[in-house]
Amino acid sequence: MARYTDAVCKLCRREGQKLFLKGERCYSNKCGVVKRSYAPGQHGQGRKKVSEYGLQLRTKQRARRYYGVSEKQFHHYFEMAERKQGVTGENLLRLLESRLDNVVYRFGWGSSRAEARQLVVHGHFNVNGKKVNIPSYILKPGDVIAIREKSRESNKIKLVLENNASRPIPKWLDVNRQTLEGKFVESPNREEIDVPIEEHLIVEFYSK
Ligand code: SF4
Repeated sequence: MARYTDAVCKLCRREGQKLFLKGERCYSNKCGVVKRSYAPGQHGQGRKKVSEYGLQLRTKQRARRYYGVSEKQFHHYFEMAERKQGVTGENLLRLLESRLDNVVYRFGWGSSRAEARQLVVHGHFNVNGKKVNIPSYILKPGDVIAIREKSRESNKIKLVLENNASRPIPKWLDVNRQTLEGKFVESPNREEIDVPIEEHLIVEFYSK
């Protein structure tokens, strides 16, 4: 997947809100949104009237960037969400939350989703006892994720665990910080997903 590698803080400034893409820095005064609370670029400080389409587009982009997925992949998730029973927008967020890289991040095993993705790609995790190195792997209720034996000795992993030990764990996940195992207990309800996204605008965007 082609990934965005430019200064990621610009993405937050473009969206006008924190997307928490850089780990610890996001919680400090060094945060790009705290330092410069206007969009990047020459006209970033100009006032703009946002059209209905613009609002829908920005919401879609924000969600995509929040979870770090490509346009193609995001659209694929939308189509999957449409085919499922229930509310499409909520289905979409549930699918995104079920990605392995997101759950690793939620466990506090990555400082950001980008770092969690990298750790998954480097093969540090098992799912139900088997190594999985695909960040987009969709977890099912009951799946058990564990840091692999060999990886537990890695200084990188130790540091990540130490830095994120106090991260609150959502109710729909369960993690044991001693055994370094976690469970995807169930798919979250909308009210359990703390993303500042009005998902109905994404549905409207793709329904045009
Ligand atoms: Fe976004 Fe984090 Fe950069 Fe702040 S520090 S602008 S939240 S990526």
